[in-house]
Order: sequence, then structure tokens, then C-alpha cells
Amino acid sequence: MKTFEELQLIAPLQRALTDEKYEIPTPIQAQTVPAALQGRDILGCAQTGTGKTAAFALPILNQLGKQNLKAQPNRPLVLVLAPTRELAIQIEESFATYGRHLRLRQVLVYGGVKQGNQVRALKRGAHILVATPGRLIDLMNQGHITLDQLEVFVLDEADRMLDMGFLPDLRRIISHLPDERQSLFFSATMPPKITQLSKRLLRTPVSVNVTPKTTSVERIEQKIMFVERTGKQSLLRQILTAGDVDRAIVFTKTKRGANVVAEKLERSGIKALAIHGNKSQNARQRALEAFRQNQIQVLVATDVAARGIDIDGITHVINFDLPIEPEAYVHRIGRTGRAGAEGIALSFCSATEGSELHAIERLIGQKIPLAEGQIQPQWRPEQKGRSSSGRRNGHSQNGTSQGAGSQRFPRRRSSGMIGAADKAKPKRRRRNGQQTRQHVRQTD
Ligand code: AMP
Repeated sequence: MKTFEELQLIAPLQRALTDEKYEIPTPIQAQTVPAALQGRDILGCAQTGTGKTAAFALPILNQLGKQNLKAQPNRPLVLVLAPTRELAIQIEESFATYGRHLRLRQVLVYGGVKQGNQVRALKRGAHILVATPGRLIDLMNQGHITLDQLEVFVLDEADRMLDMGFLPDLRRIISHLPDERQSLFFSATMPPKITQLSKRLLRTPVSVNVTPKTTSVERIEQKIMFVERTGKQSLLRQILTAGDVDRAIVFTKTKRGANVVAEKLERSGIKALAIHGNKSQNARQRALEAFRQNQIQVLVATDVAARGIDIDGITHVINFDLPIEPEAYVHRIGRTGRAGAEGIALSFCSATEGSELHAIERLIGQKIPLAEGQIQPQWRPEQKGRSSSGRRNGHSQNGTSQGAGSQRFPRRRSSGMIGAADKAKPKRRRRNGQQTRQHVRQTD
């Protein structure tokens, strides 16, 4: 399937796609939409940034548009479950965009805000309900949502739901689904627990795997910068004021870290806001909106808060701290380079973060090249001429980018790091000044 016309979607959807200037379906859309239109269950291995929202939204909207049923109070026909509020909001916005020429009602429910408006909207009737698990269960318990009319169930980012401890909630929700339904299940990774869950949910599904890590982040240029912990803030300031960063997301390990980084940036005259789980939903939305509208240059975020954020024109992702879970690295850097645009991901690595770097490089199957003017700290293994047993799909474009293999990083040694004092002028040889485009590879 090469074009959207071949899918023979109903005219209002075709028109919306034309409005959006979508011409060619992304791989996940090409594989998912025809099967879902036939009513098949889908098991999709794909992450945000691959076009997966339209992959499930288009067949759903097509079906609802054809049925032309009246929305019933409190009884949705479609339920889309997402792990975070931000992702739920984006999914709802996508349904609104693709369904703009259809007369369908959709309702969004998530926690952290008062429920009054959500309850009233449900009462007015919803064809499509987009929800996060906790609030959905609350509202079901209060009798504001009944799932007995449900025709389609979508579970998005299932792996993240499990990471966030939503499995008991998910089980509860699944027990309320009618047996006769279509289920569309998406997850960026497929660990055994997810496979088990998918088996409970799906009937003879069509499996779709879009090698998400290559499709979403292959155009991202990745660089590593070795820096002492105490030198990170001033290195960040230098990068942000150097002139080529239009819009950046900076990732920190902790909520407190996000606040501190954002406050220090503001104090040095760089417009920045933090988003994380301790901020109210309104504060998070305001920060996202300010970022979208270019009122701030930098959004400082924790992993959970940034999950699913889809904002065009993010030129840089900066990992102020390396993530503890290596998969989060791939999710983080996928915030830039969206929908075919190019982006740059810079990762700060202090001497205590060697094992995190090692885990990331093992996952992506390659060694992240040094940023220009950077030095290789002594504790980072030289890679010349080694074959790397831990490397999967690794490739080298300039002879320096190789898998980290099984070699261990010593826990602590500061040689070769950019400290607070010497950050601007590395003292030693330049090892890898050449610009290298790295391709993140799928690893499973
Ligand atoms: P998603 O993976 O659903 O978060 O989508 C990632 C981005 O790709 C969003 O900004 C979509 O608007 C965009 N997108 C999705 N499908 C297409 C398409 N077929 N052509 C162009 N852009 C698309």
C-alpha cells in the first residue's frame, strides 16, 4: 500500500488527511490500517513518532463514520487507554484532527484535575473515550462510565503502563470489556509480561512490527559529552546560548533536578520551564503550550512527564543526566527528529554514569560518538580493532563508532572529564572531531 487513496477510507477522513498533508502512510499505518479495517485484532510493536496514533485512529474513525450512530451518555463505543495524561491529550487531539469532518463526540478523562467537566462531557455522550487508567477506574466505580457497548479497545504504550505499575488497574479494566470487541494493542517493546497480557486480550491478532527505533530516530545525530557533574549546568548554558539551539528538551533523572536546572537557566536569562509528575496538570499543560508557542526555549523534563510529547521543531534533546533504564534513552532522543525532521541529541556523561552509558550503547548496538572538541576519558574503553560481543546491528561510519561490547566501565575516574573550571577548553588531543550521523538500530 503506497498511498492513502488505496485504503479507500471514507471521504471525510481522506479530506482530513489532505488537510494534514499526509500523502504516504508510514510503515505502521500501511501494515495496521488494512487489517484493522477488516476488524482484525492488532499486536503492534511500535513507539511514539512512528505514526502509530493515526494507525489506530483512522480505522476506528472510518468505522464510526460509516455507522453514524448517536453517542450514548456514559457508554463509549471506543476506549483508548494511555499511560500518561500528556499522551492521552495528544491522542485525543489526533482523533479531533483526523475526525474533524465527522460528527463524532470524543471525551478525554485523566487524573490530577477535578472530574466535574469530564463527568458532564460523558453524560452528553461519547463515541470515543480516551483515558488514563486511574481516572477511568474512578469514574467507572462511580457509575459514570459503562463499557458494555464497547466495540473497540485500544491499549497504547502497554510496556510503559506496566513500568508505571498500572497492571492491576489494567486487569480490572479488561475484566469489564465485553467479549465481542476489536482490540488494538501497541507497545514499544515486547517483554514476556507484555506478551502474556496481549495473549489475554487479543484473538488471533495480526502482528505488526515497524522496527520503531530505526524509523523514528534514524535521522538523529547523537553525541556524547563527558563532563563532571558540577560542570553540567554551565555546559548546558554554553550549548543553549551558542546559537544553534532553537528549541530543546533537557532530561533530568529526578523531579528536583528538573526544577533546579530550569530555575538556574531562568536565572541566567534562558527561558525555561520544568515539567514532571509533581506539577499540577494545568502547570504541565501551560509549560507545554509555552514551549509549543516558542515562549520558552527549553523544557526541562523527567522521563515520565515527557513520554509521548509530540512537538514539532525540537532541534535538540539534551540528556543532562543519562537515564537509568537504557530504553528511556531511545524514547528521549525520539522527541527530536519527529516526522522526518532532523535533530540532535547530546548526552552529558559524568564519571559516575559510565555504567548507564554502557547499557545504552549495548541497547542501541553502537558507540555514541564524541561531540566535537571532546576528549575520550581514560575510563572509557578504546574500541580500536576490537570485536564487540555485545553489539547488535552496530555499524561504523567513520571507523570509531563501534559497539561497547562487554567491556566494563570502571565506576569512578575523572580524567578526561570537562569540569566546572576547564569545561571550555579541553586540554588534550581531539579524537573524533568528525561529524557522524548515527543510526539507532532496532535491537529486538
Ligand atoms: P505518532 O507516532 O502517532 O505520535 O506520530 C508522529 C508524528 O508523525 C505526528 O506529528 C503525526 O502528525 C505525524 N504523522 C503521522 N502519520 C503521518 C503521515 N502518514 N505522513 C506525515 N506525517 C505523519
